[in-house]
Amino acid sequence: MTSMKNSKCKLCGTELVFITKKTYEKIVDEIKPSFKSISKEKDGIFSLCPQCDSYALGAELEAGYPLFDCDGIKNRIENLHSSDEHKLKDMLRDGLDIVFCGTAAGNKSAESNSYYAGSSNSFWKVLMQVGLTKEEIMPENYAELLEYNIGFTDINKSESGMDKDVDLGDDTDIAILKYKILKYAPKILAFTSKEAAKMFFQSKNLQYGLQTLEIGRTKLYICPSTSGAARRYFDIKYWSELNDLV
Ligand SMILES: [Zn+2]
Repeated sequence: MTSMKNSKCKLCGTELVFITKKTYEKIVDEIKPSFKSISKEKDGIFSLCPQCDSYALGAELEAGYPLFDCDGIKNRIENLHSSDEHKLKDMLRDGLDIVFCGTAAGNKSAESNSYYAGSSNSFWKVLMQVGLTKEEIMPENYAELLEYNIGFTDINKSESGMDKDVDLGDDTDIAILKYKILKYAPKILAFTSKEAAKMFFQSKNLQYGLQTLEIGRTKLYICPSTSGAARRYFDIKYWSELNDLV
């Protein structure tokens, strides 16, 4: 994934974007374009210019193909320059111990621009109970977790209510998550529910706790959800074990 830095088109100087191999194959199959700027495949990803290859990216279709930029932000050609796409921003930087990853921001979280803000969600209480934080942090003060070397992302960072042909956790979402994790290399990527982990692993047979698979130097961990709706699956043991790992 080293090729995925901030590179510019050799023809026009526009910043390149990325698509997955699956998307590439779909484009070839559906509109058979003659690409002008596409790179060779590397780790299942192609880069290309959104200006020179706007037709290939679906600029003339009702909805273009899923692509992402060098910040790992998912988009489509028709929205490439609109800025209101991501209500709840990632909180990522180098050297983090844990990055928590959920499915997508819930309505309450997106509205209030804070992570795990639903009133029945015990995420913040659990962090304190297992010792990951010294006190219970209010959801709107989520950025205080950086002081504990903890960050946030979600599998699907796209705006909610996008058209239905984009599945939650499609191959582009997964490629973006891998890209971010390789870029920031936290010690642990901790999924905050089995649902989130299922999307990433594309598997239903998953156990809570530490996983055998790693992304680069990052260990993967699955926590039981702290959402009120998932209370019967909750077991604080896995959250304590996560704290023991850092
Ligand atoms: Zn170009």
